[in-house]
Amino acid sequence: MPSYQYDVVVVGAGPAGSMTARYAAEGGCRTLLIEKRQEIGSPVRCGEGLARHFVEDTHLPFDQKWVGREVAAKAGADIWLKTTATAILKDDGWVRGVRAKRLEEEMNLEAKCIVAADGYESQVGRWAGFKTLLRAGDITGTLQYRLTNISEGHDFPDYCEFWLGTCAPAGYIWVFPKDESTANVGIGVSLDRLKNRVDIKGYLDRWIAQDPRMAHAQPLDMVTGGVSTAPPIKKSVGNGIALVGDAARMIDPITGGGIGNGMLAGMLLGKVLAKCNETGDFSEAALMEYEKGWRAKLEENLYRNWLAKNKLVTLSDREFDDIIQVLAEVGVHKLSVRAILKVLKDAKPELVAKFAEFI
Ligand SMILES: Cc1cc2nc3c(=O)[nH]c(=O)nc-3n(C[C@H](O)[C@H](O)[C@H](O)COP(=O)(O)OP(=O)(O)OC[C@H]3O[C@@H](n4cnc5c(N)ncnc54)[C@H](O)[C@@H]3O)c2cc1C
Repeated sequence: MPSYQYDVVVVGAGPAGSMTARYAAEGGCRTLLIEKRQEIGSPVRCGEGLARHFVEDTHLPFDQKWVGREVAAKAGADIWLKTTATAILKDDGWVRGVRAKRLEEEMNLEAKCIVAADGYESQVGRWAGFKTLLRAGDITGTLQYRLTNISEGHDFPDYCEFWLGTCAPAGYIWVFPKDESTANVGIGVSLDRLKNRVDIKGYLDRWIAQDPRMAHAQPLDMVTGGVSTAPPIKKSVGNGIALVGDAARMIDPITGGGIGNGMLAGMLLGKVLAKCNETGDFSEAALMEYEKGWRAKLEENLYRNWLAKNKLVTLSDREFDDIIQVLAEVGVHKLSVRAILKVLKDAKPELVAKFAEFI
C-alpha cells in the first residue's frame, strides 16, 4: 500500500479545515488537505449567513473567492479531492496518520498531526477516542431550498428573516435574500421533536405554502444536513491530533452558525501547528495552546447560548410574539443574547423571568 508523509494532514475542506490548512502551510508545515467530495464547497450546505467581522478577523479577501480553499492552495497546501479518510493510524497512544481511499486506491497518509475537520459528529475524532456523538436534543436537522421567482407583487426585505415557534419546533425558519427574486429559505428542527426526519420537509413546505410572497416560487436546489446545538466539546486535542470547527462543536447552539467560529479556530490551530512544527512537538501538551486559545475566544458564549437554547425551546408562540413586540418598540443595539435579555428585562421583566441567570 502506498504511503505519503506530511507534517499535517487535515481531513475535511470545509471552512474550518481550509483555514487550518492555510495557516499551517503558511507557517511552514508540509500540509495536505483531503476532501471526500469531488468539489470543495459544493453542494453549499449553508444559508450563507456570516457576520462580516469574521472575514476581517481571519484576513480573507472579501470577494466571491473568499472561501478558505483557494487561500489554502495559494499558501502551499496540497489538496486532494475524492479522498476519504477511512480509519485512523494509531501507535502507542499517538495518532500517526489516517488510512484513506482516493478513487479506488487505498493509502496511508502519515503525519505528525492529523486535524479532524470532518464536520459534526466527527468520525475521525471518534476513531481517535473523542466523544463526538450527540444526543437527539442537541442535533438540529436542517433543510434549505434556494427559491427563485419569489416576491412578485410583494415587498421583499433586504434583511434576513427568522421565524420562531411551532412553525419550526425548537428551531427556526430563515429567509436570507440573495437578490430581489431569490432567497435561501430553510428550516432547522430539533431531532427530538420529530417522529421521522423527513417531517422536516413538511414543516418547511407548509410554511412556504402560507406565505403569499412564495406563491410562484420554484426551487433551484435543495440541501439537507445536521447541525450540532450541543455545548462545546470537553477535549479537542490529543497526541498527534486536534479537532476543529463543527467536529469540535464550535457552532453556536442558538443560531446554528458555525462558519465564523470554525474559521477563527482554524486560523488559531494552523498557527499553533506551525509553532509545533518548529519544535517538532505535536504532543497533547503542545497542542493545548490551541485548545486554550479557542476556549478563551469562544467557549463562554457557546456554553451560555447552549443553556439559553434549552430555555428558548420551552417558549410558546405567544411568548415569542411578546418578546419580538417589545424589541420592536424599544430597539436593541447589539444582537447578542445578553443584550436582548437586558433590553427585555428593563422593559418587561416578567417576560424574561426564565432567563434571569443569563442577565
Ligand atoms: C442547511 C444549513 C445551513 C447553514 N447555514 C449557516 C449559515 O447561514 N451561517 C453559518 O455560519 N453556518 C451555517 N450552517 C453551519 C455551517 O455550515 C457549519 O457550521 C460549517 O460548515 C462548519 O464548518 P466545518 O469546516 O467545521 O465543517 P463542514 O463544513 O461540515 O466540512 C466538513 C468537510 O469534511 C468532509 N469530510 C467528512 N468526512 C470526511 C472524510 N472521512 N474524509 C474526507 N473528508 C471528509 C465533508 O465532505 C465536508 O466537506 C448551516 C448548516 C446547514 C446544514
